[in-house]
Amino acid sequence: MEITNTPIDQLISFLQSRKCSSRELTQAFLDRIDLENQSINAICWSDRELALQQAEKSDIRRSQGAPLSEWDGIPFALKDILCTRGIPTTCGSRYLENFVPPYDATAVNKLFLAGLVLVGKTNLDEFAMGGSTETSIFGATKNPRDLSRTAGGSSGGSAAAVAARMAPFAIGTDTGGSIRQPAAYCGVCGLKPTYGRVSRYGLIAYASSLDTVGVFAHSASELAKSYGLIAGHDRNDSTSVPSPVGSTDLLPLPKSLPLKIGVIREHLEHEGLHPEVRMAIQRVIQVFQEHGASIVEVSLPHSEFAVPAYYIIAPSEASSNLSRFDGAHYGRRAAVVPNPPSGSPLVDMYSRSRSEGFGAEVQRRIMLGTYTLSSGYYDAYYLKALQVRRLIRQDYDAAFKQVDILLGPTTPGPAFRLGEKLNDPVQMYLEDWYTVGANLAGIPAVSIPCGETSESLPIGVQFQAAPLEEQKVLQAAHWYELLTHGNNFDPSSIGPS
Ligand code: GLN
Repeated sequence: MEITNTPIDQLISFLQSRKCSSRELTQAFLDRIDLENQSINAICWSDRELALQQAEKSDIRRSQGAPLSEWDGIPFALKDILCTRGIPTTCGSRYLENFVPPYDATAVNKLFLAGLVLVGKTNLDEFAMGGSTETSIFGATKNPRDLSRTAGGSSGGSAAAVAARMAPFAIGTDTGGSIRQPAAYCGVCGLKPTYGRVSRYGLIAYASSLDTVGVFAHSASELAKSYGLIAGHDRNDSTSVPSPVGSTDLLPLPKSLPLKIGVIREHLEHEGLHPEVRMAIQRVIQVFQEHGASIVEVSLPHSEFAVPAYYIIAPSEASSNLSRFDGAHYGRRAAVVPNPPSGSPLVDMYSRSRSEGFGAEVQRRIMLGTYTLSSGYYDAYYLKALQVRRLIRQDYDAAFKQVDILLGPTTPGPAFRLGEKLNDPVQMYLEDWYTVGANLAGIPAVSIPCGETSESLPIGVQFQAAPLEEQKVLQAAHWYELLTHGNNFDPSSIGPS
């Protein structure tokens, strides 16, 4: 009966009918943060006073009959890589420990303009580079389902905050799987939109041609509505898609599902796939089949090259993007010493600001990317990876000529134990086997819970669709939830306690 367990559409009707105020709602989520965050470590910044102020303003608007949107007064959590005016934005990095942006990212601005209330900023891998949040200066976020395991990454804080009901929904980013993977590990839903659908303005860049901003929530319809709040064209982002977003309403269950689903052969046959995850995905296929969807096997022949191509392209772009952190413009600045061993106090200041400010994984990627972009190696690595990227996109294009959506696992296995992959970066990178393809191709993808392992660890199923077809993946996810009775809602959540 906890209010924090209540679906967002009900929270909205409580606000509309004055069954509860935004202040009460916000207070309830802040109390959850107080109660749970010490053990889970999902939230790295929260300001009770500020949140309650925002909530009170929302209540005044409602009492005057002038809410800014349907969602006015609904709380949210935000990955700490999106700029917030006057509020620290650290990227989980020592380098930006004390950075306070002078402006809001477009996605954040849209939420504030719709009247939403920020209850906390969420933990992440440093600069979103990682799959476990273990590279964050704040330490790792724990999986609410099993505190000895990772919540995933890089948006692990957002996924865990939603799973532990510290916020009804949260914003994350996905460059290679950072929304879908933690969503799968924590047993929540996550949407990575088409590249360019949500503005990247104010998102601190990791790999600009892959970075996307998306959402976490407890159901496909909540994903659809919250995505609708942040999506749309933005003149401040030159890669922003100019076409309209369209409706985010999802259809009820028809008698027979008018859906042609492709099952990716290479994904189900992949040797790294945990048998219990394979079985869970096969059950999902069966559910769709029994309700009239047609299932065909499709091939994405270049699947095995997705991780190698990604781990050349992403570090290349990262090395270029992170060159802006030079100790002079933003963030950490090492003290200038008069006669450094290098002979140049300026070069010494640059280099120490970076080596003291960036953690090991970020440094590894900067070095990798600098190498793959250097003359002599550029053609062999970076250019080759771009060619592979094109082939991967072509595989998807061919698949979407045959089917509406693609279905497969989100991750090779359930959440791994904290520390398990920390000393083996390649093992960590292989967790991205199923997710990086969508980023390389720029297509929308969603992960929703589809069962548990025998150890009660959540399993995620991933749906992917052609560019700008968010509606299709969300619709398929919604139908699956309806067919399986929306298995991720607490049925006792019927009203405010
Ligand atoms: N795990 C991937 C990486 O380390 C993806 C990260 C992301 O999507 N931000 O790059």
